[in-house]
Amino acid sequence: MTAMRFASTRDPALTAGFGAALVQGLAPDGGLYVPLRWPQLPLESLAGESELPGLAARLLAPFVEGDPLAAALRSITSDAFNFPAPLVPLVPDGRLSVLELFHGPTAAFKDFGARLLAACLVRLRTHKSHPLTILVATSGDTGGAVAAAFHERPGIEVAVLFPKGLVSPTQERQLTCWGGNVKSFAVRGTFDDCQRLVKQAFVDPQLRERSELSSANSINLGRLLPQAVYYAAASLAIWREHAQPASFVVPSGNLGNAVACVWARRLGLPIGEIVLAHNANRTVPDYLESGAWRPRPSVPTLASAMDVGDPSNMERLRALYPELPQMRAAVSAYAVEDPEIQARIRVGFEQFGQIWCPHTATAAEAYERLSASPRKRPGRWVVVATAHPAKFREIVEPLIGRKVPLPQTLGKLFARPTQCTEIAADLTALRAALLGRQSSWKS
Ligand SMILES: *Cc1c(COP(=O)(O)O)cnc(C)c1O
Repeated sequence: MTAMRFASTRDPALTAGFGAALVQGLAPDGGLYVPLRWPQLPLESLAGESELPGLAARLLAPFVEGDPLAAALRSITSDAFNFPAPLVPLVPDGRLSVLELFHGPTAAFKDFGARLLAACLVRLRTHKSHPLTILVATSGDTGGAVAAAFHERPGIEVAVLFPKGLVSPTQERQLTCWGGNVKSFAVRGTFDDCQRLVKQAFVDPQLRERSELSSANSINLGRLLPQAVYYAAASLAIWREHAQPASFVVPSGNLGNAVACVWARRLGLPIGEIVLAHNANRTVPDYLESGAWRPRPSVPTLASAMDVGDPSNMERLRALYPELPQMRAAVSAYAVEDPEIQARIRVGFEQFGQIWCPHTATAAEAYERLSASPRKRPGRWVVVATAHPAKFREIVEPLIGRKVPLPQTLGKLFARPTQCTEIAADLTALRAALLGRQSSWKS
């Protein structure tokens, strides 16, 4: 087998190997890296693998083949997948379950991708003299997960950009409690502004000259690909127990998590339907309905980590399904308003004794709506739980009328002091902040 290449969504002739694609983040033409071919993973080849690190090594092997990272793959996946992703049945017959992706250090699913990316980049940087600067725009959870994954890792600096006042107080603590090689910027603007700034920074000659830049957003292949692993694990567990494919309802914003699920299905895993649950930022549901792609400014909602009006990873979905009918056959999408999210949090607690974060509740609500529609296929359904409810306790506690217990992971973070710099939403401000303080960064 020849080494796997990854091509830009905008130009199939522009390719990179796995490690290079991770370091670059974005392809040089502004496109996103996607695999040039799709290895098939026959289910027999995964027999005996049920733990995440082993399964991750099997799933990622064809993508890393021929890359300098290949030899270290098993140690990389052990380093990254060091916490579980349990599948919790909601009803006794197991027809509906919740996939809990929030048992990592910052209590959201982004810990998986961030930890894998960190494990890879640290191994790629060991012989470099220049530091690598990771720019990350976050609508809430990305920044915390990336900061946690890279904090105190040698040779790497992190700049986290978040929309000032638009993340929950709990999230803000996680974005600003690091120091050392991690610096946090509160941008006076929206998440889309933060994302635009990161994209502009990448093509800014002054910044590029100063240090090597990389992104750790869900646009980075190294964040996205490992997310296919928990879909593989969950669908295999269901297949082994019930001999039925698993269908997933994925809380979606920038579509990184959803594309990982689509990729897992493409690799041959037993996955049926994939449903994208969006909040009031309805760009994707509207597109699937009308066929017109109309990105728009994001609107703030209770499920703030999904407040994305122009989801970057749509480009990756389009690369797989260039025609609208193909896209419609591959995924469906729902938009859920804040009052429905609140009602679903209440009902989830009353009906199942479950405490859901607003993002998970968005997916649970989409599942309910789907259940009432003829489109829903029979079989096993999984609502994806993307964050621990304690991260959104300001929203959740009044709805369920009790305190949400703080997981140990978050308790540790909350004990740390916080620091951050406020900047305007323009490149000049970011450039000044980055160039001005770069020399003082220690790693
Ligand atoms: C980031 C995030 C999402 C959205 O994931 P995308 O990959 O951007 O679609 C959903 N829920 C939570 C809790 C998140 O942090």
